[in-house]
Amino acid sequence: MKSMVILGSTGSIGTQALDVARLRNFTVKALTSNSNIDLLEKQIREFKPEIAAVADENRAAELRIKVADTDTKVLGGEEGICAAAQLDADKVLNSIVGIAGLKPTLAAIEAGNDIALANKETLVAGGELVTTRAKEKGVAILPVDSEHSAIFQSLQGSPGKQSVKRLILTASGGPFFGRTRDDLKDVTVEQALKHPNWSMGAKITIDSATMMNKGLELIEAAWLFDMPADKIDILVHRQSVVHSLVEYVDNSVIAQLGVPDMRVPIQYALTYPERYESPAKQLRLEDWKTLTFEQPDYDTFSCINLCRQAITKGGVYPAAANGANEAANKLFREGKIKFLDIADAVSGVLDSTEFLPCDSLENILLADSRAREKVHEMFGC
Ligand code: NAD
Ligand code: MG
Repeated sequence: MKSMVILGSTGSIGTQALDVARLRNFTVKALTSNSNIDLLEKQIREFKPEIAAVADENRAAELRIKVADTDTKVLGGEEGICAAAQLDADKVLNSIVGIAGLKPTLAAIEAGNDIALANKETLVAGGELVTTRAKEKGVAILPVDSEHSAIFQSLQGSPGKQSVKRLILTASGGPFFGRTRDDLKDVTVEQALKHPNWSMGAKITIDSATMMNKGLELIEAAWLFDMPADKIDILVHRQSVVHSLVEYVDNSVIAQLGVPDMRVPIQYALTYPERYESPAKQLRLEDWKTLTFEQPDYDTFSCINLCRQAITKGGVYPAAANGANEAANKLFREGKIKFLDIADAVSGVLDSTEFLPCDSLENILLADSRAREKVHEMFGC
């Protein structure tokens, strides 16, 4: 592994990926952002990429002027980001948030670039299309999400899928663990943004509070590991030390543990199968003393089972659930709807979605846009 492209380099995962790139001396060929050109300019000056792409065309034009003294070519729009994904590189790390990452992932696959994938919404909305195209092109999709990296690591050396009884995803439980639905009626955005164990972008932090994140991860795991949803379980593990587990047919359970630090799964996805020193702290289990595990509260955190229903129904149902969640998550952050409305939005959209196969970009994007429209209609905003 020598060269990489980072899509979404100005975000939480993107900046941690640059920590890894710095440490491992990787050549960074492209960097991209939605609109954060100030940070992107700093990154351009440090990493000297061939291309920098900004989704917002106006911001791209501003950046072009700012970095006119460098050799970096500035591209704009979704096409610019897809062009960055298609540069000749050993790996494309996709750390864009939301379905905006789908076309760039498909572009990277078409170019034959292996992908380190943090952008889970890509697999949730377009799992069938993405995994089919990747297989056809011989492209590897390596998980960055900590739970999926843990499962991927715990599967190393396994004789095959027939030896796996189930996958167990761990969940921190988020800031509202132990609360009832009634307690959650009037929670504020600030309260929902206080994650106990991880510092992440705003969208995924809200997804952790509703536990939609775990539902999305269930669907992500189904596609990454080609496992039916009924073989994927979830356990709340408040300490976020056991990142996930694989149970084999002989009832052996193999897990990956570590102090929560995303730079470990990011680096593993980039250097697999090699391992190198990392900036993460050493795990001293004696300092933790007690690790706890329990069933999630599926009634209060209904998004988990809504996602399970969506992947079980198949077709574009997961894309609809994801689109509804993205729209509702944003409305909640803007103060326009209440916390519990997010789950109602996902549920309402699933009820009104009609089956369509998930084998074309058109169907996925149609389900996504219909879901968003329905959410805005539901809440009149
Ligand atoms: P973030 O909001 O911090 O960063 C998102 C990045 O995507 C930014 O660089 C932003 O400029 C870019 N972006 C946003 N909208 C875009 C658009 N329309 N077009 C192009 N680029 C756009 O988010 P994050 O926390 O880094 O999460 C990124 C992805 O990784 C998400 O899918 C998230 O679920 C996943 N993930 C994050 C973590 C974490 O610890 N942060 C852990 C596991 C998985
Ligand atoms: Mg995760």
